[in-house]
Amino acid sequence: MSDRKNTLQDLFRVLPSTDRSLEALLTADDALSPRDAALRETLRAAPRVLVREAVTAYWNNVRAGIREGRLTDASALTLEARLSDLRRTAARAVSPKLRPVLNGTGVIIHTNTGRSVLPEAARRALAMAASGNSTLEFDTRTGGRGSRNALVSDLVRVLTGAEDCLVVNNNAAAVLLTLDTFCRGHEVVISRGELVEIGGSFRIPDVMESTGVRLREVGATNRTHARDYAAAICDETRAIVRVHTSNFRVVGFHTAVPTEELAAMAHERNLLLINDLGSGSLQNLSLPGLPREPTVQDALAQGSDLVLFSGDKLLGGPQAGLIAGRADLVARLRTNPLLRALRCDKLVYAALEATLRLYTEPERARAEVPTLRQFLVSEEELLKRARALRLAIGRACGKLCSCALVRDSSRAGGGAFPEAPLPTTLVAVTPSVCSVARLKLDLLETSPIIIGRIENNAFCLDPRTLEPECYPRLARVLAMVLEAARAEACGAAG
Ligand SMILES: *Cc1c(COP(=O)(O)O)cnc(C)c1O
Repeated sequence: MSDRKNTLQDLFRVLPSTDRSLEALLTADDALSPRDAALRETLRAAPRVLVREAVTAYWNNVRAGIREGRLTDASALTLEARLSDLRRTAARAVSPKLRPVLNGTGVIIHTNTGRSVLPEAARRALAMAASGNSTLEFDTRTGGRGSRNALVSDLVRVLTGAEDCLVVNNNAAAVLLTLDTFCRGHEVVISRGELVEIGGSFRIPDVMESTGVRLREVGATNRTHARDYAAAICDETRAIVRVHTSNFRVVGFHTAVPTEELAAMAHERNLLLINDLGSGSLQNLSLPGLPREPTVQDALAQGSDLVLFSGDKLLGGPQAGLIAGRADLVARLRTNPLLRALRCDKLVYAALEATLRLYTEPERARAEVPTLRQFLVSEEELLKRARALRLAIGRACGKLCSCALVRDSSRAGGGAFPEAPLPTTLVAVTPSVCSVARLKLDLLETSPIIIGRIENNAFCLDPRTLEPECYPRLARVLAMVLEAARAEACGAAG
């Protein structure tokens, strides 16, 4: 017993003080590998309180390891033995958490990395709104108070044929506000085939039920008929809800009631048809051999009273939820006190208005909205880009890796075109100095971070979501990481 205690004390005794660790990290000027030198610069540039905190946390973690008996070798616990690991861990801890990512996955609407890349026009509008005061709630005719709720209504009216529209924080908020306003304490009828979970832990039914609305589920997962809806409607029913089955499509033996028919049924009975469209395209992006992805215009023309959709999916703008449809209904949404908690910031309005303006010229939208552009880029252009990317990597990396071109397909993401084959050409990078798995992890510590997918034991980059401007930078980062791995492998060998 006392033996063990002594041993623990011995182990604790070799741990350095925070000050000695800081000194070694920040001021010692020994020769470091380029990567370690870069980490030291990161630490030197970071706020000192964050570095100190990171160092303390690091050694606390080591202490916990000693106490739990995981760390028992005193020689592996000294500052000298740990310095390299400490430097890495601390640099990661003090770096800004929101960092740029080069998305080589080929997933266009990539939720984990912020979905749509904004059009240039939207970035300019963001800078304007961020760098001074703006007319967010300012009436330019009177100089008095205006309303943010009217900022994009005209545009949405023109673009979709809706009578009016309201913008909230995201589409989940749009669902919440709509059901809370019109259906709270009552029932809505929804097809079992449309009770979907959309990535993460977001389940439409949970959001709906959180408003105190009872979901009357009808039909079977693969088939719902008009008579199923009709039988479920009762005095308590306030709306029929249609949810676009993003990310997932019931194929094969499948029946869904057309939106026109649901609208007619709802209106005969004085109910609303609420249509949660999800990705909410404003352009007909039909791809050969695939069912047409419904547009907002379609959904309204088919009789939906309110159409709900995201700003940052196929629309290609900032995170937002748009509710478009009947003016009297939108007016009621505006009076719901919850709106105050769901409203958008000026930055969102700036980016959204600029994005929507591009859609007034469809050709311009196709050319300037990155999400649309990434969708519509031709196979020939992708092959050209893949060759350019391979060339850039070859030049920067030399023998550190080899590159091949591989035919494959990209994915839309964001719940649009779930089974669309989007043919592409990947650049498959095979490192010659480390494993593919190691390369993938090392590329998560760079700035920008580079993400791709591992296929057939190669790190694959899809030029669909990597536009040519970034190739030199991508190649440089890749070369730095591979060079560091090579140096380490040499060090270990020698
Ligand atoms: C994505 C999606 C949502 C959620 O939209 P957010 O803007 O992410 O809140 C809701 N409904 C459907 C059908 C969707 O596809």
